[in-house]
Amino acid sequence: MRSAESRSSAQKPESTELEEFDLVILGGGTGSTVAAWTFAGEGKRVAVVDRKYIGGSCPNIACLPSKNVIHSAKVASYFRRSKEFGITHDNFAIDMSGVRERKRTMVRGLNDMYLENYKNTGAEFILGAGRFLAPRTVEVTLADGTRRQLRGANVIVSTGTRAALETITGLAEAQPLTHIEALELDEIPEHLLVIGGGYVGVEMAQAMRRFGSRVTMIDRSQRLMSKEDPDVCEALRSLLTDEGIDILLNARVQRVSGRSGDSVNVVVEQNGIEKGLKGSHILVATGRTPNTEGLGLEVAGVELTDRGYIKVNERLQTSAPGVWAIGEIAGSPQFTHISIDDFRVVHANLTGGRRVTTGRQVPYCLFTDPELAHIGLNETEAQAQGIAYRLFKVPMEANLRARTLSETRGFVKAVVEADNDRILGFTAFAAGAGEIMGAVQIAMIAGLPYTALRDAVLAHPTLVEGLIPLFSSPAAAHNVVESRGAQTSAA
Ligand SMILES: Cc1cc2nc3c(=O)[nH]c(=O)nc-3n(C[C@H](O)[C@H](O)[C@H](O)COP(=O)(O)OP(=O)(O)OC[C@H]3O[C@@H](n4cnc5c(N)ncnc54)[C@H](O)[C@@H]3O)c2cc1C
Repeated sequence: MRSAESRSSAQKPESTELEEFDLVILGGGTGSTVAAWTFAGEGKRVAVVDRKYIGGSCPNIACLPSKNVIHSAKVASYFRRSKEFGITHDNFAIDMSGVRERKRTMVRGLNDMYLENYKNTGAEFILGAGRFLAPRTVEVTLADGTRRQLRGANVIVSTGTRAALETITGLAEAQPLTHIEALELDEIPEHLLVIGGGYVGVEMAQAMRRFGSRVTMIDRSQRLMSKEDPDVCEALRSLLTDEGIDILLNARVQRVSGRSGDSVNVVVEQNGIEKGLKGSHILVATGRTPNTEGLGLEVAGVELTDRGYIKVNERLQTSAPGVWAIGEIAGSPQFTHISIDDFRVVHANLTGGRRVTTGRQVPYCLFTDPELAHIGLNETEAQAQGIAYRLFKVPMEANLRARTLSETRGFVKAVVEADNDRILGFTAFAAGAGEIMGAVQIAMIAGLPYTALRDAVLAHPTLVEGLIPLFSSPAAAHNVVESRGAQTSAA
């Protein structure tokens, strides 16, 4: 990613003079960025403070760079499968520095676009570390050591999270990769040990395997992506296994020695037995730690939750009057589209409306190949909540577009309320899953019954057209008959 240092707004000389703004935003992630451009476009004086990234994590070190690199890995997988498509080639090579350069070029382009938008909207981007000096007053330390003091009529805190590093003997000393370094690799790890089987671990594991790395995943749960329905977890596990990734579940890392990039040894305990693993690199993807330290939240009157996130109500107000929190630091679901919706909540509440975070849709997509996309209730949740539902589920073989692409792995499934036709949830483990989910989500927003999708005229052959065979298939009814969670199923 491009350093913002030379590109930030003209840096002012040190001043203890308090600069007044309508809105000061501490931490410049996606929600903050959209907030800055919107409020400034509405004539407000806005300053955004970020210590490192123009636009925060998403365009620099998270969503977009990872999807960029994952797409290069998809191209590599096509090379491997090329015979299947009737195309032969003598050989191919993967140049990780070329993969990295494509990603860097994209990030530079995004940085330029963001700076242009800052210029056009009149919002000020200030590169520097911020902390509260007093209620609604933020001090920024610029790269050259000079300081500015900014007071906002309102302040939004959105300092995000960072990769958590568990206190495992030898782990910190091994200098493990996080997603940041992994996305900057200019070499293919000979053997990558991935600790953590959540979004980041699974996406990176598949990509690195496709680049040619040997990959071993270690997760303490019984299943990968353990909050998903069991059939989804199993489909993911078999995908990764089929691609040659070794997966150790129910396994805890006991100790680490060596250094990532050179040679690392990891001792795991799995089902009561200790095992030694040797790899060349280690990637930690075991969750996130909120960036709250050194922010002076105490002097600002901003309280934290037990888990260390900023305490907010459903309007995203913190415990300090005039101070709001959005995005991951506010404990919101960890997705860029949610950070943008958090901005909308604050915007509505600051402009005379009332909008809350409760009850909103939280769609998401895991960018494995095929993708995993989900919205609404899954089966496990419906069962736990004692909701009577009908399950529609078809394999991707039923999708004619998928057949044209030779991408028939996976399935789509929908949870529909038992005694009416309302769609409660949808999951796709499929090529184009995120796009297919979007169509179902729009139907859910519109309150359409599933029959509207079943009976729609959808262009042929498209992946979305697969919703017709899905909703035309026989549904399995799952009815709660006794206590919560107890159920009978009948096709
Ligand atoms: C590898 C990876 C892939 C991901 N892929 C996806 C995806 O495909 N789709 C999706 O929806 N989500 C994805 N996410 C999650 C997504 O990136 C975040 O949820 C999203 O960017 C919102 O983050 P945020 O705005 O809360 O914080 P961030 O974007 O992290 O912004 C916080 C900012 O605060 C700054 N900051 C922190 N402390 C200070 C301080 N004291 N002074 C000044 N600045 C400070 C930081 O520099 C940072 O720029 C991914 C995450 C990771 C790690």
